[in-house]
Amino acid sequence: MIRHFAEKQDEDERAEGLSFYENTQHVPPMFEEILIETLEHIESITAPLRERLKRQTETRRIFPEYPEDALIPAWEMYVRMTGNIAFSDPDIPVSLVQNYRETYGADALDKIRQYQLGGCHRMLTGFWGRGSQRGIPIRKTWGKPIYDRGVDQDIDWQSAYVRVGDVERHVWENRTTKLSDTMPTTITDGTVLYPHELMLIMPVRNVIEGRNNGILDTTLYSAIGRIDRHTLIRSTSGKGSGDTLFERYGMTEEDRALRLTPHSLRHLQNTELFRLGVADTIITKKFNRRSVQQSYVYDHRSLAEDLTDIDLAPEAEERLGDKPLQVFRLISANKASGHVVEEFRRVQREYGEAAAFDYLNAEADGLHVTPYGLCINSFTSDPCPKHLECFNGCLHLARTDVISEQENLQRMRDKFAKVIITLEALPENQRNVGWANQLTHARVRYENIVKALGTDAGMQVFPDGIDLSVSAERNAGTTIIDTMKRLRDLDD
Ligand code: SF4
Repeated sequence: MIRHFAEKQDEDERAEGLSFYENTQHVPPMFEEILIETLEHIESITAPLRERLKRQTETRRIFPEYPEDALIPAWEMYVRMTGNIAFSDPDIPVSLVQNYRETYGADALDKIRQYQLGGCHRMLTGFWGRGSQRGIPIRKTWGKPIYDRGVDQDIDWQSAYVRVGDVERHVWENRTTKLSDTMPTTITDGTVLYPHELMLIMPVRNVIEGRNNGILDTTLYSAIGRIDRHTLIRSTSGKGSGDTLFERYGMTEEDRALRLTPHSLRHLQNTELFRLGVADTIITKKFNRRSVQQSYVYDHRSLAEDLTDIDLAPEAEERLGDKPLQVFRLISANKASGHVVEEFRRVQREYGEAAAFDYLNAEADGLHVTPYGLCINSFTSDPCPKHLECFNGCLHLARTDVISEQENLQRMRDKFAKVIITLEALPENQRNVGWANQLTHARVRYENIVKALGTDAGMQVFPDGIDLSVSAERNAGTTIIDTMKRLRDLDD
């Protein structure tokens, strides 16, 4: 699950206009790996920022690493204030920049810093002589000021220092936009949440351009805040100043021309879920929508394309709704099996074509193609809670011949194989109480996926399996079959 905070829920919006709701989002197993990898990367590259922001919040200081009377090198304070790691005159060697861009790690930043220490720092004259910064005394090693306001002396920047308290006062008085975001937010259940507790934080108010394409020193920069809506819009849509992320990091012309608004991600996700065949009821629930129509973009591309080639009797086209018609096509093409299909054939035999179509209209509305096969269950009112773990022994899963389905299953098989190998290789003294459970969990899933991969298209994968949808099933005894059974019993 991902814990997140939704920013807007109109009906409960507070007087101040903004409400944060704590919420969780289920992560489908097929996305687990890429998501964990991405979030771990974000966590590691923002760790120095987060640690500093936490200390700033606790101490109400800008540079909590130092006491107020500490003297620190002028170059270091320049980096802390601007974020720009380039503080010496010659360019940073390309190899060091490449090394940094491969890892974004603190070690690589340290190497760049060390490289510059012995160099000439004449560029610092411009920074420390600019505007209100001229009021910050530049000092010798023992603290005596060497740089008085209005006097452009030649300064040996290798041995020039500033007092931390002087700079903090300067920022508080003249550069309040360079202060970190330390104010907490109260979410709708009353919990107080500080910015340093969030995953997505960033350096704020820093525009590092120019030499070396700009490298921000996350281990020293002092102004940190939440990623806000405006930053997201600006950096992905191109509305506003500066490069978009695509322009800066795109590998091809086509990539660099891309534009995206945060809201279009929602549309993209919606479309992708439809494309993967996730049921519209599930998509509707996921996006907190009130009606299925709001989500509806029917798009079972690959399977649907196969199915449109199947000719059906005009009566079927007239009587059946969209999804039931798809099921009927699947049944006609022998691409589907399971209890809905068996019941359809039985109703057709016992009550005729018209009743069978009525049955399909009532029962097959929830049919959908999952990333791992076709779900032959029906859940017209409640989405299946396990819709993306169908491979785990669900009796309603049937295989199709869609290529992406095969690939998804293979990917999941490889993922669980890796987990099993890692767990089995763990030395005994490192196995904790959950080890055996995790291993069983992975082995069962692995075996089930292998079984799914070996099942022919159109066949149920686990005819004797379990009903994973059980918690979402409708109350027993209310379906059209139950009614028919009751009528039959009365006739008898
Ligand atoms: S009922 Fe079974 S096959 Fe259908 S979506 Fe749920 S888990 Fe998947």
